[in-house]
This record gives sequence, C-alpha cells and structure tokens, in this order.
Amino acid sequence: MAIKVEHLTHIYGQGTAFEQYALKDVGFTIEDGQFVGLIGHTGSGKSTLIQHLNGLLRATSGHIYYNGEDIYGEGYDRKTLRSKVGLVFQYPEHQLFEVDVFADVCFGPRNLGLPKEEVEERARAALAQVGLDESFYKQSPFELSGGQKRRVAIAGVLAMAPEVLILDEPTAGLDPKGRDEILDEISMLHKEKHMTIILVSHSMEDMARYADRLLVMDRGEKVYDDLPKNVFRHYKELEKIGLAAPQITYVVHELKEHGVDIPDDLTTVEEARDAILKVIRS
Ligand code: ADP
Ligand code: MG
Repeated sequence: MAIKVEHLTHIYGQGTAFEQYALKDVGFTIEDGQFVGLIGHTGSGKSTLIQHLNGLLRATSGHIYYNGEDIYGEGYDRKTLRSKVGLVFQYPEHQLFEVDVFADVCFGPRNLGLPKEEVEERARAALAQVGLDESFYKQSPFELSGGQKRRVAIAGVLAMAPEVLILDEPTAGLDPKGRDEILDEISMLHKEKHMTIILVSHSMEDMARYADRLLVMDRGEKVYDDLPKNVFRHYKELEKIGLAAPQITYVVHELKEHGVDIPDDLTTVEEARDAILKVIRS
C-alpha cells in the first residue's frame, strides 16, 4: 500500500493556552492508484491531516508509513517524501512568484537538483498535463485567469513527478467551467498515469463522480471510510456534522418515498437517470 496512518493525533500549540486538538487517533490505509475523497466541515482537520502525509507537519503522536517505511524513522529521507507525495495547497496560486509560467513550473524540479534538460522536460510535460500549451510559457502567472493560475500551480507540483497527488480544495472559488477542467485533468492523471489521488472537496457531486472511496472527518476524528455510495446512505448523520449527500440522492429518496421502485443508493445524475428510465420503460 502507498500510505498507512496509525493512531495519528495532532495538537496545535500543545502546552499553551491555545492548545487545540486538530486530529484524534486517526487511522487508515490508502492503496496505490486509489482516488480518495476527503470531506468534512470547516475545521474538521482535513488540511492538518494531509500536511502530515508529505511530512510537512509532524504528528504529536502516531505513525505514518509510506511504501512500508516509517516516515518518522531515524534517517528517513523526508525531503524525498515531499517530492513523492505532492501537495497542492488551498489557493496555490498565492505561491506563484516567478516572472513567467515556465520558470515557475521549473522551480520545484530545479530545487531537486536535476539537470537543466530534465527540469525543462518535466515542466513541459507537467504543463501539457494541465492543458497549458507553449503560448503560456512566457506569460506572467499574474496575468492569467483564476483557473489558469491554479493549473500552473498544479503543474508546479506535477513537475516534481509525485507518486501521490494531494489537492486541498483545488476548485474553490473557480467558475463551473474552470472547475470541470481541473477535475477532468486530475481524473486523467488518475486513469492514465495511475497516480494515487487524495482530493479534499466540499462538492459531494464531485466526490460521487470521481472518488473510489471517501474518508469523512468530524472534529478531528475519522467518522466514515467507505465507498461513496455507502457513505451517502448516512445522509442524515452527515447533515448533523455539517455535510450532505449529493442533491440527486435526495431526489432518489423522495421518489422512493412516493412509491417509485428505484434503488436508494444512487449518487450521480447519470445513475439516477438510468434507474428512472428503467422504471418508466418497465
Ligand atoms: P479543515 O482543513 O478541515 O478546515 P484544519 O486542519 O485547517 O481543518 O483545522 C483543524 C483544527 O485545527 C481547527 O480547529 C483549526 O482552527 C485548528 N488549526 C488549524 N491550523 C492551525 C494552526 N496553524 N494553529 C492552531 N490551530 C490550527
Ligand atoms: Mg482546510
């Protein structure tokens, strides 16, 4: 498996008046090539959790294994871990700073100490993966649209050639078109490059569509870890922790309550459409 987390606890400001439990005894494993959705109300610990997975934050207690190796073990190479587990922060465009797009994407691989040709090769490949062609290379990142800026930032992480890609709300604040483009590109990386993906999102529709599995956080604790359709069966409990199921799940439940014979674990519009057509035609 790619990542194993055991009894992970994180306390911010331990021993101060501001002591804050952000994670409490969290455990899970993520297999290579999975697409995992991470959901939870604001403050539930999602960002804190993912920053542990690439070694940026250190656990107060607990263990994390990457490809079977203890990342807190003596002599473990945490610098390499940061390139293997790529983390795209929330609003990553705030971290763009180079004069042009190409230079910005080169920054990470150059820092790894790779030769110039390989740095540039990786930057070109990463920009192509996020759908930005050569006409963008010499543009200032600050002149791009919101969606384009965000794609440059994602390319900067992809250029590190990560095995696992973690994205913290990559579509926040984008218009629907920009959102769909980014999610489709992430989905391609998963399908074609078999990259392991961990996606933090507030959109239950996106989770139902893309994730193989959902981890649900509430006040620092993991409360569900299952297939999206199994998690969304608990929509009443999800509402109590500030979440919900995809809209279509509610429609399906209403139909069922009105006597329509249709499965109640449908979570995407396409599934519901097919099931409704089946009822109509039967
Ligand atoms: P989420 O990403 O799900 O919104 P966070 O991981 O950002 O949640 O936050 C979890 C908890 O930890 C919250 O109560 C938050 O206020 C607290 N927290 C987050 N970052 C810090 C920090 N740097 N210092 C102190 N407390 C923090
Ligand atoms: Mg967050």
